Amino acid sequence: MRLHATRSWNYTLSEIGSRFTRKSIAVRADRESGIRLAHRDAAWKSTAARLKQRYFEVAQRLFVASGILHGLRAVNRLLLHISVLLSLYSNEFSLIVMHVSLSQPDEPSASPVASRSGVWPDALWPRLSARVQHRLAMHVAVARKQMRNPGPLVSFTFDDVPVSAATLGAEILGEYGCHGTFYVAGSLAGTDEPLWSHATREQLLTLHRAGHELACHTYTHKRMYELGPAELAAEGDRNEAFFRALDPSITLRNFAYPWGLGDYGHKRALAGRFQTCRSVQPGINHGRIDPHFLHSTPLEDAHIDAAGVDCALDDVCALNGWLIFYAHEVATRSGEFICSPALLRHALAGAAARKIQVASVAEAVRLTGI
Ligand SMILES: [Zn+2]
Repeated sequence: MRLHATRSWNYTLSEIGSRFTRKSIAVRADRESGIRLAHRDAAWKSTAARLKQRYFEVAQRLFVASGILHGLRAVNRLLLHISVLLSLYSNEFSLIVMHVSLSQPDEPSASPVASRSGVWPDALWPRLSARVQHRLAMHVAVARKQMRNPGPLVSFTFDDVPVSAATLGAEILGEYGCHGTFYVAGSLAGTDEPLWSHATREQLLTLHRAGHELACHTYTHKRMYELGPAELAAEGDRNEAFFRALDPSITLRNFAYPWGLGDYGHKRALAGRFQTCRSVQPGINHGRIDPHFLHSTPLEDAHIDAAGVDCALDDVCALNGWLIFYAHEVATRSGEFICSPALLRHALAGAAARKIQVASVAEAVRLTGI
């Protein structure tokens, strides 16, 4: 009001000497000045909207870039300040939300996959491209779904399926009357690696007959960025054929990204083929989720202890969510990818004590209605 009155007075002075009386000048000037201010206001608002839009575009690119080039953290901080100022001006707090969500780290800090060398391509451009694809897969959903589970859920999943997971792991799950999900890359069955030997065809079949879920982990365990669209489809077909030959009643409904690396370019194709895709990004799935980038938490002694497991179980109760544990070997010796029988039993006993339903991924999909 004060600004308006001042401008009106200035305008009136500039009109002195015209054929209007001072009063009529004042009235007309007041009205025109009001209109002019309204115009200016509208112009500023549309400029602000354009600036905000531009900011969104630039910030999104920079956030992706700063995730790739860790030297750009300062840019990220500066953008956060701009976000706060713009948010205060426009009451658009989504800017801050967007900033915080996009500036989160793009790979799990406690992931065995992330700490392995040679996860990303060596050459600069393929590495940038793979990281962007992974990050986009993490943040952009093909279709989000609302979870409608009546109570909290926990799933125990095993990747690559070493012999110890198929035998001792399944045996411990059996002690608690539970079933797990085993993500298998068919070409690995029965093969030996420096870290472990993989479960044989017979051991996989035993898992299926005992009621555990067998799920897809590609056929050759290649990273998503190593596969073109046709190769990805062929991987799915070969793994399916492998399991059909084992037992025609096996259907692969769920998928886990090899090495934990998502790829936005492949997400739609995977979503067309599988009900879910599991990442190794820690967190509890709850509310509206992206079924094709499910969060999961390592259940391996090098990455989590009994207290950490208790925290995760308490959180899943509080959120009425779906906690997915992933592991590789189940053994008493120590190593980066090993879940000790004690830790597995602690998690199963903790779930039972809190009345958290243990379900395979396939069963959890049914219970959540996603
Ligand atoms: Zn794997």
